[in-house]
Amino acid sequence: MPQDNLHEIKGNKNRLAPVTPDSLTGVPRQQTNPSRWSGSGWDAFVAELNSAGVNISQSSAARSIYITDGGGVAMGLPRGVLVARSSENVSKTLKAAQKHRVPVTVRGGGLTTEGECVSYGGLQLDMRGMSRVLHIDSANMTVRAEAGIYWHSLAEALRRQGLDYLSAPLNMTSSVGGTLGVGGIDINSPKFGCSADQAISLKVVTPTGYIVECSEQVNPELFEQVLLGYGQFGVITEATLKIRPFTPIRMHYFYYSSLKESIEDLRFLVEEEIADYAGILTMLDRAINLLVAFDSDEREQEFFSRYRSRLRGHGEIGFTLRMAAHYALHPWKVKEALYLLERKRALLPELSPSAHMQDNKMVDRTVVFSRAVWKFWGGRQMVIPDLATSREKFARAVERGNAVCRRYFPNYTLYCVGIRLFGSRPRYELSCIPPDAQDFAYGCEFEPILGDHYYSRDHLQSFKNEIYDIGVDMGTSYYRFGGMMKGYIRRVFNNELVDKHLRIKQEADPAMILNPDVIF
Ligand SMILES: Cc1cc2nc3c(=O)[nH]c(=O)nc-3n(C[C@H](O)[C@H](O)[C@H](O)COP(=O)(O)OP(=O)(O)OC[C@H]3O[C@@H](n4cnc5c(N)ncnc54)[C@H](O)[C@@H]3O)c2cc1C
Repeated sequence: MPQDNLHEIKGNKNRLAPVTPDSLTGVPRQQTNPSRWSGSGWDAFVAELNSAGVNISQSSAARSIYITDGGGVAMGLPRGVLVARSSENVSKTLKAAQKHRVPVTVRGGGLTTEGECVSYGGLQLDMRGMSRVLHIDSANMTVRAEAGIYWHSLAEALRRQGLDYLSAPLNMTSSVGGTLGVGGIDINSPKFGCSADQAISLKVVTPTGYIVECSEQVNPELFEQVLLGYGQFGVITEATLKIRPFTPIRMHYFYYSSLKESIEDLRFLVEEEIADYAGILTMLDRAINLLVAFDSDEREQEFFSRYRSRLRGHGEIGFTLRMAAHYALHPWKVKEALYLLERKRALLPELSPSAHMQDNKMVDRTVVFSRAVWKFWGGRQMVIPDLATSREKFARAVERGNAVCRRYFPNYTLYCVGIRLFGSRPRYELSCIPPDAQDFAYGCEFEPILGDHYYSRDHLQSFKNEIYDIGVDMGTSYYRFGGMMKGYIRRVFNNELVDKHLRIKQEADPAMILNPDVIF
């Protein structure tokens, strides 16, 4: 275990709090719940904004819809809510918040799962009031939009001109601003990188209320801080993004019963740039599905003529026969076999719904996958710890995480993707991009299927801790990075690096009001 992780807080070595008998010992756990805010300064804050024409909603009806995020595990209530309408009113709000030391928690689609966008008192700034497409430049292939827009709404506007964004979460209600701050992974991330890497320029309101345009050329430091910055260094109010021509995609599925083989084949596809889209989606660790898709018929034909034979995955019929043989020899696992069969029967048609298929090609992958995710994995609570690793550590990390899933839940899914990196951009430091990854990073989400089962918070937290502990042990990063799991940030990165970013934060946000307790 790295000695860096054995640091001291306020001179006292943290007391150990292992959550399961075999979780890592000797690693101090740090604060996992935000401290309480006393509420002082609130009335003066509201009054000042009121007189400046910015009205805060304080009714319990307005506040209570923000009680949790997509995960449904972190709970908190804001003292008031502001739906952002312009960069100017965000600026007035942050200036007043600095003066009266009122915490401001920004929210886009609210799809975090560790409470990163949940307010524990203070103001909830809902960016979805800023959701217009401002300008589509089809000559230079860029779009300018307000940052509270959902990616799906952006796609609708682009589609009218035969255009599309590059890559975004496979979820219809994630916003552009929230995603640029956390990363954004699509099944085409091996080709285009994470969503944050498609930003060309941003309008940002700094924590002290200045409205600043930034890009790689103009105010590059701020640009790099805000991208993958988890809302710490400014509120993104507008973004200019790269776009591309829209293409329906032809999807192919190859089935594996070995995680290791499927991961090796995913890496082959990603690193040799063979497919336009690739990812792994499993049912337990028994039915492992490598999905591969193409933007053009030429790329698809090239794959089948040159590379298909190098993949070890089977087609559906071949795999079904192998599974039948396996369960015939292991009859005591009949329950598992029935579960897989039922899951396959229900899920596969949802991945090619007739309304979204044209000439056997999938139109609107985001709609198809988003619907399937909510239908088959969604529920009152969604617990999705993950590990983000270098290529060398990926297979081992997934195998270890899989063993944890097996112990905690009867049914679960693993979702694995590759992510192209572009050199060593400053934005990658202290982010979901693992520090030792070069050219490509990989991520795996460990997703129990909770269904109608009730699990205690302790059970869910122990599960997450065991996954996150693997990250500490192996020196990886996490895609979910902060909120309830922020204690892991110091453990997985060294103190020196976290303190370096903390100093930048303190300088940019003297009263530490913007998205407090998420990272620092
Ligand atoms: C069912 C489900 C499926 C998912 N699938 C995917 C997937 O396929 N790929 C993927 O990458 N992720 C996925 N996620 C994770 C989630 O979609 C991402 O975290 C999402 O991109 C965040 O966008 P959001 O608008 O929901 O951000 P929010 O949750 O609203 O905010 C995220 C963080 O950014 C801050 N923030 C929000 N808006 C701004 C802004 N304008 N300026 C500055 N800071 C801001 C918030 O304070 C918070 O800290 C999934 C989550 C769920 C629940």
